[in-house]
Amino acid sequence: MISPVPTLAAATLHFLEQTLGAENLSVTNADREYHARDQSFHHAHLPAAIVFPENVAQVSAILKHAHAEKIPVTAWGAGTSIEGNSIPIAGGLVMDFLRMDKILRVYPEDFQADVQPGIKYKDMNAKLAAQGLFFAPDPGANASIGGMIGNNAAGTRTPGYGATRDNVMRLEIVLANGDVIHTGTRSKKTSSGYDLTHLFIGSEGTLGVVTQATIRLHPIPEHFSAAVASFETVADATRAVSAIMGAGLNPVALEFLDVATVRELNTTNEFHLRENPTLVIEFHSATAQAIEHELALARELCQDYACLSFEAGVGRAERDRLWKMRHSTYAVIVRNHPGVSFLICDVAAPVSKYSELVAACEAEIAALNLPGASIVGHAADGNAHPLVPYLPEDEASHARALTALGKMVRVALALDGTATGEHGVGLGKIPFMRQEHGASLDVMRALKNLLDPHGILNPGKMF
Ligand SMILES: Cc1cc2nc3c(=O)[nH]c(=O)nc-3n(C[C@H](O)[C@H](O)[C@H](O)COP(=O)(O)OP(=O)(O)OC[C@H]3O[C@@H](n4cnc5c(N)ncnc54)[C@H](O)[C@@H]3O)c2cc1C
Repeated sequence: MISPVPTLAAATLHFLEQTLGAENLSVTNADREYHARDQSFHHAHLPAAIVFPENVAQVSAILKHAHAEKIPVTAWGAGTSIEGNSIPIAGGLVMDFLRMDKILRVYPEDFQADVQPGIKYKDMNAKLAAQGLFFAPDPGANASIGGMIGNNAAGTRTPGYGATRDNVMRLEIVLANGDVIHTGTRSKKTSSGYDLTHLFIGSEGTLGVVTQATIRLHPIPEHFSAAVASFETVADATRAVSAIMGAGLNPVALEFLDVATVRELNTTNEFHLRENPTLVIEFHSATAQAIEHELALARELCQDYACLSFEAGVGRAERDRLWKMRHSTYAVIVRNHPGVSFLICDVAAPVSKYSELVAACEAEIAALNLPGASIVGHAADGNAHPLVPYLPEDEASHARALTALGKMVRVALALDGTATGEHGVGLGKIPFMRQEHGASLDVMRALKNLLDPHGILNPGKMF
């Protein structure tokens, strides 16, 4: 890895000030500390300075200088990563895209928009709503588009609309040496050349920096419905997931809550859920009849798999109520167990192996014998998020939690799955990269060396 750069030479600071203006450069302790950690448990590392570029020309000039002077540069969106992805572990510069946060152009007839990387997807969707459009990937946290592209974020709506990777068509990228390239096309299909757009998506700012993206949008649906289905066993719930997908129904979201999560939610007295493995299902449609039809069919399919209860509601208010519940799970569990911290695990396997994956994860987290151990997941994607409890003041407890997390990842890999369904590699998943990718990891390393020969971009990640 490139040598750490804890402070910057006076000549570099002068160059940055000239390039950006003093108002777009910060070396204050408050700013450095804010940009030293993401939302994970990984140790903080102070950057030497933070730059807030306003345009691609500034980004290019800074990277050209950093490349020549071998200064680490870590791109920053909103810092909500949970694997250490945006922690500047070699110091140097953090490049925060806060001031590149515009929707540049909307193509309403093509359901596309050109946007800058610093815009937060929730703010963007609030603006796009005026045109009846939205960007579908929904990681829950208030993430930026650049960070979602960096991590290939996904979230609850992936079954219906895909992950970030499926919703980005073109990128403007500044390479490590300051060169600017444009990848992809606004055409819906192309067979032209290597797919560089998708190479950069999910590369966590290690191959280049995104300064603009053409994203795919969707019309805001007219009709919504949501249902909560409880099952005797996780295996029954998983079989119902496969049946729903296999029947050609097109759920937008299909979330799994284990019994422990349901019990935690019931403590709030806001929700009165049956304490069993549970699915939360959402449909969108253009007509009310289609929604009713999909719900009826989903109910039948769930009943085929010994569903104990199926409560459905139609309309945006009911949908919003259920998603408030789903999105509040982490906060409720943290609140219920003061003094306990949690590692958020992110493993995925083929849907047919989901119940095996969940069972193995349940056994691992139960063995820790601490409160709050629970699992939620994006069931239709085979993605599980076990919450792994530990006592923050107790190193041995933290080590046990990490061991459990490692075992869950190895189970996912043994089931033909992945170490990370959507949170990215960051620092946390580096130990599993060789096992997951074998010799492909060397090809990834070769690409990294080609595009960033001095290793200045988000050093210490991925490999
Ligand atoms: C409570 C909570 C729940 C979450 N739930 C989900 C979930 O359901 N699904 C999910 O997918 N994620 C989830 N996340 C994780 C996180 O929100 C996502 O990974 C999100 O995409 C990170 O976006 P960000 O703007 O915060 O990126 P950052 O953390 O700032 O950056 C992410 C990565 O992208 C790089 N990067 C940032 N900007 C650029 C750029 N312009 N060019 C190139 N690289 C760049 C960074 O260097 C870093 O490697 C959750 C996080 C929290 C805290």
